[in-house]
Amino acid sequence: MTKLKEECAVYGVCGYHNAVNPVVEGLYSLQHRGQEGSGIAVVAPDSQLIVVKKPGLVSDSYGELERRKLAGKVAIGHTRYSTAGGLSLLNPHPFVVNNPPLAGCWNGNIPRPTYDYWRDYLKDKWCDFDTENDGELLVRLLAHRLYSGDDMVAAVRWLFQNVTGAYSGLLLHDGKMYAVRDPLGYRPLVFGDRGKSWVVSSETVGLDIIKARHHQEVQPGELVEFAVGQKPIHYQLAQSDLRRFCIFELIYFARPDSVVFNIPVGHGFRRALGKRMYHQYGCDLDIDVVIPVPDSANDFALGYHEASGVPLGFGLRRNHYVGRTFIEPKKKRAPKVRRKLNPDRAVIAGKRVLIIDDSIVRSTTMLKIVRMLRRNGAKEVHVLIGSPLITHSCYFGVDTPDRDELVAAQNDVDGIRRLIEADTLQYVTIQDLRSTVLDLGAKPDHFCGACFSGDYHPTPVPG
Ligand code: SF4
Repeated sequence: MTKLKEECAVYGVCGYHNAVNPVVEGLYSLQHRGQEGSGIAVVAPDSQLIVVKKPGLVSDSYGELERRKLAGKVAIGHTRYSTAGGLSLLNPHPFVVNNPPLAGCWNGNIPRPTYDYWRDYLKDKWCDFDTENDGELLVRLLAHRLYSGDDMVAAVRWLFQNVTGAYSGLLLHDGKMYAVRDPLGYRPLVFGDRGKSWVVSSETVGLDIIKARHHQEVQPGELVEFAVGQKPIHYQLAQSDLRRFCIFELIYFARPDSVVFNIPVGHGFRRALGKRMYHQYGCDLDIDVVIPVPDSANDFALGYHEASGVPLGFGLRRNHYVGRTFIEPKKKRAPKVRRKLNPDRAVIAGKRVLIIDDSIVRSTTMLKIVRMLRRNGAKEVHVLIGSPLITHSCYFGVDTPDRDELVAAQNDVDGIRRLIEADTLQYVTIQDLRSTVLDLGAKPDHFCGACFSGDYHPTPVPG
């Protein structure tokens, strides 16, 4: 996997007086997708592209000074999660090229063989890179096409035809904002309006926070052009019906109050899957309370409770001032598990507990949770997981470990059960996910599940 090891967010506004202000608001709402750094680029009144990049949280980053520097009516922003590259201020997007003037930010990843090929291609043309970030590669490739005489439509069409991978992004060029989504649509991207301005966001919560009206998804293989005072122009530049929406957006990444791939995440997908969990795996379980691992499993547990009648208890309380463990860089992960979750003995003691979580990656977090529950008096601890066994790495924008660190690549379900010291352990199946999205009106074969199956088709990946 190359350097864009992240689950990021992009956000843009076109046609708003001081567009930086709604962009900062939008990035707040998308902070769950990346907490290590952020960046905003704007078309300044003199048509220059200005960029500001900051480490850390959005809330700490854009005071009066930065906002004055970022004056303009068209702006794009990015929140970043990464491992490699650390906190270097070169790594957060947007990336800016001066000749021709172009800024771009992305959510996704270009897998290694493709990344290496096109980086070498540009290096042969004397192109210098500031980072090993594939977001920079995408911007430099587009700049190269524009420099060679393409307009933006031709340049993005070329990108779709030649660069395979996951990329939902925003561009600034020639005073306009462009939204781009790769032909397979791995990562979400939606747009809406707020009066006379246009807003593009990785998730619909980014529209909600500034009271923008939700229009629709940017379609896979689509380029949408936004200019101040004009209606968007849509260019469908790739025609295939093949789709690879990341199912993990619904399971874990997206906020529950978002609508992703036209499916309400919490109240729709997670609750429905929770109900299915009961009917498939819970009918023979004698338990006293169902407890979610907060927050992403809350709606699974709610659905389970609604289907089963088993009391729902918040036996694990989350400290909201600590980041998510899965998307924290590896070195920081272990102590944060203990800081993040606190057991509530009043809910747990003397009970047969069913704990529901969204996934098990390495098993260390779940082992700590099971031990925590037993220390606090749980009589039995049963575990139900809202995703299938994660047996393969993701190359499409999610920082999963190498295969040898994935517990399900090395152990069967009973082996994992023993590792986490649970009384029972059940996972949902790929078929459960397919049935759930089908019931919600989506096409199951439009979803990527490569981390469960190892089937990365049609995108080339390493190995
Ligand atoms: Fe999402 Fe898994 Fe596909 Fe990666 S491999 S895009 S995490 S479903």
